[in-house]
Amino acid sequence: MGEIINPVRDSSSILFDFVLKNLDSHLSFFEYRMMSSGCEDSSVNTMGIRGIPEQCGCGRRTGIYTSKTKVNPGRTFFRCPTFQNDHLYKWVDEAVYEEVQDALPKVECFASDVMKIKMEIESMKTVEEDLKEDVRKASNELKKLNVIMKVGFSVVCLGVVICLVLIMFDKADGLSMNSY
Ligand SMILES: [Zn+2]
Repeated sequence: MGEIINPVRDSSSILFDFVLKNLDSHLSFFEYRMMSSGCEDSSVNTMGIRGIPEQCGCGRRTGIYTSKTKVNPGRTFFRCPTFQNDHLYKWVDEAVYEEVQDALPKVECFASDVMKIKMEIESMKTVEEDLKEDVRKASNELKKLNVIMKVGFSVVCLGVVICLVLIMFDKADGLSMNSY
């Protein structure tokens, strides 16, 4: 006899726990010696529960135990703490296999969602590039406009200066003509 592993409510943590415990040989599950030496498969009773059974049909929380029989040495199983034949008894590997099998469509759905998001991001990138191009064009137009305005202003200033100079010369001529 060994220690009893506290059954965990969350199925994902049961799975994680199962993987961890199997990796670490120093930790062992409660070692349950089958009273009969017969084939255990005949006494498997999943009670129609798919995946990891957190509870037996009777409502009791399942425990995880390790088989010590010659047929399935070291193989772990879920069992109702009553250990009665009409209560839950399910191999952990089979339960995990079912759990993974049931999770696959969800994973595929998730992958498809990720693909959709990727495509949306790509299209947003294209929109961003277009916007950047528009901003670049607008900026160039603005620069051109700025140059035109500067040149225009310079021309106007030059015109004003020339006019002033002409007026001054005109006045100077008038004065010199009057002086004679
Ligand atoms: Zn039970």
